Amino acid sequence: MPENKLVEVKDLSKVFIIGGRFFGSKLVAVNKANLSMDAGKPEIFTLAGESGSGKTTLARMILGIIEPTSGHIYYKGKDITKLKNKKQKSWFKREVQPIFQNPFEAFNPLKRVETYLFETAMNFGIAKNKSEAAQVVDEALRAVGLSLSEVYQRYPHELSGGQVQRTCIARALITKPSLLIADEPVSMVDASLRMSILNFFHKLKTDYGVSIIYITHDLATAYYVSDRIAIMYRGYIVELGPIEKVLTNPLHPYTQLLLESIPKPDPDRRWNKRIKLADIEVKEYMALGCKFANRCQYAMDKCYKEEPFDVEVDERKVKCFLYSDEKASVGSKI
Ligand code: SF4
Repeated sequence: MPENKLVEVKDLSKVFIIGGRFFGSKLVAVNKANLSMDAGKPEIFTLAGESGSGKTTLARMILGIIEPTSGHIYYKGKDITKLKNKKQKSWFKREVQPIFQNPFEAFNPLKRVETYLFETAMNFGIAKNKSEAAQVVDEALRAVGLSLSEVYQRYPHELSGGQVQRTCIARALITKPSLLIADEPVSMVDASLRMSILNFFHKLKTDYGVSIIYITHDLATAYYVSDRIAIMYRGYIVELGPIEKVLTNPLHPYTQLLLESIPKPDPDRRWNKRIKLADIEVKEYMALGCKFANRCQYAMDKCYKEEPFDVEVDERKVKCFLYSDEKASVGSKI
């Protein structure tokens, strides 16, 4: 796999068994997902979708937390599902860092926060001793607008939610990663902090060359901060392309349904409607053909029988039969 790609996800799937190993049903949480991000061209790539769309599962497979059922994930040309020895795994963990939704869950309430930061610096070999670690930690904290003296000897509950989230980001930065995977990182913070974290993501990209996979259900923040977006529905990436094109001129009927108004580039303004069309229905995952067919106003006979494939239209990939006659399909049939 070429090393000019930072990340390359190829036909990646994850199947969960629901209701018991022998008599349960298969739920395809992620279905042959394909995406890539170029190396040397930092970007913020959003994975968006309603609850149960598969966005978090896909992100967690890229992080190496969940094992794929099939397919491949290449990071800088290496298949991360095949990293064997400790050295290779440590390299990957250094390069790709997570930022989770609830920053308080990242810290043990009985442990002082600087302990985590020092441990990260020492365990990854960034610092050889405590004084070097203090320097590295302070530098990372200053990048997020804090300092070591501000968090030193303090427990998580003694910091504000914003300080804890920024400390989490600082911890992720200690290893000087090339990729951050941030799962709903601003969903639990207030508007002013949301703005400041999103602006900081932008700064990380432009000033530090860090790429970010941003997972969210909030299209307003996605529009504000992202370069590209992949819209997920029932395990499939149904539309993937430049943020401006996808959110101002959506092609897939599902994306169109999500967008009832032109998004404003204002993360203080919440999207007028959360992405939640219906409760997760297991039978929808199992239906033949297009998973969106029962809700789609354009559904044709074949939509209920055959699975649509990716079609390249107007700088993006759209998984829909409406466009299949226009251009040649790309990628494998899903
Ligand atoms: Fe609608 Fe058919 Fe396109 Fe699915 S493939 S989104 S059912 S038109």
